[in-house]
Amino acid sequence: MRTNIIDVPENLNSEIELCGWIDVRRDHGKLIFFDMRDRSGKVQLVVPPSDKVVHEIASILRPEWVVKIKGTVNPRPEAMKNPKEGPAGGIEVKVSSIEIISEAKTPPFEVGTDGYEVGEDVRMKYRYVDIRRARMMNNLAKRSQVTKFIRDFLIEKSFIEVETPSLSKSTPEGARDYLVPSRVEPGKFYALPQSPQQYKQLLMVGGIERYFQIARCFRDEDTRGDRQPEFTQLDLEISFIEAEDVIALNEELLIKIVEALYPEKKIQEKPFPRLTYKEAVEKYQTDRPDLRKDKNDKNLLAFCWVVDFPFFELADSSTSSGQEAWTFTHNPFSAPKPEHMDWLMKKEKIPEILATQYDIVLNGCEIGGGSIRNHKPEALKKVFEIMGFSEERILKNFGHMLDALSYGAPSHGGIAWGFDRLMMLLQNEPNIREVIAFPKTGEGHDLMMNAPSKVKKAQLKELHLSAEELH
Ligand code: ASP
Repeated sequence: MRTNIIDVPENLNSEIELCGWIDVRRDHGKLIFFDMRDRSGKVQLVVPPSDKVVHEIASILRPEWVVKIKGTVNPRPEAMKNPKEGPAGGIEVKVSSIEIISEAKTPPFEVGTDGYEVGEDVRMKYRYVDIRRARMMNNLAKRSQVTKFIRDFLIEKSFIEVETPSLSKSTPEGARDYLVPSRVEPGKFYALPQSPQQYKQLLMVGGIERYFQIARCFRDEDTRGDRQPEFTQLDLEISFIEAEDVIALNEELLIKIVEALYPEKKIQEKPFPRLTYKEAVEKYQTDRPDLRKDKNDKNLLAFCWVVDFPFFELADSSTSSGQEAWTFTHNPFSAPKPEHMDWLMKKEKIPEILATQYDIVLNGCEIGGGSIRNHKPEALKKVFEIMGFSEERILKNFGHMLDALSYGAPSHGGIAWGFDRLMMLLQNEPNIREVIAFPKTGEGHDLMMNAPSKVKKAQLKELHLSAEELH
């Protein structure tokens, strides 16, 4: 049975078997030393010249070759002990056999560094090599731990994790949809969801009461440091709930994540301060203020809630057409603040209507947002009317929602976190690509798989599409 490298020091004087990658090799005269690495750590191996067969194999090993070795764990000679390496610095493994599992081409870059010095395109192209570096390994492992923590926390609080479809209908979240053509119905398309917003509300109508999902979302917008064409949300929705309860629950979860998994970090202020949208913009000229008192401290977390957002804003088309056209600022499914419901129903004082929206901001980055929803179909319909949608368009696009809300809908509300952004901040990374196993470039390319890519004409034909001019 293979021993994990981290456990090697506990096996002093025993015979063990290790599997992993060659990290560095050093020849000291006849003695060959190499460091071997697996996910758990690194250890020094030594091959004396006495065993000719093993020595011969050891002499051809190169960095990133994959080997299985057998050997005995010995204390290092006093002069060679290295306390900086922790317990592994006091021992070495004297190798008695080596089996080469895989040879490796010369890696495109070093994996022993943090990797910031390597061009990002080459790291993305050879992501499977890049992931071997300790920083990337740690980012992915930490991400998994945070996910598990969230799952345990929410399931403990009676949430049910439900998966919702990826092949769906366009969701209005303010971005362009990714479309998937239907083979069976020529000219028709699925949309990849920009968020599970409608499904989670439908689950509330379905009586699920407490839903969450670690959900993949798709938005066809220009990629930036904190945006990717596909990204992950922690999405949740609760029935019979007030904004205050959603805020309290999320605040508790965020604080517990930090306390349990990032004890070195300090939350600047608890409970998290709250600002209205108006206050934030007046005081900080942004609706996602960075409230850190010391911006040089990488372990300082300044969370805040921003509330009382305007429900509607003038749409871009207003300027071009000269006609007043409204669009939602966050989410068309939000309820207005109760005291503004009357204005919504009468379609008056539109710019003054405030939404029940709450955003959670961390160190100047919006890491989540949500609202209490309009559970009355007539109120939801008014939102679309204010946005200038015809009766026909409302029914065509949102008929299913209006219908569902008329079959006994509980009051409900929820939130979604931009999970990649949260992980980026917790891991002190400069962008979300560093916490995503296989990210895309700014132009939306997957350099490793070479996607997007052309497809066969026959495939297009099957989908009733033509891209002749592109071929
Ligand atoms: N669906 C919303 C979003 O993706 C979040 C929410 O309101 O729950 O921004």
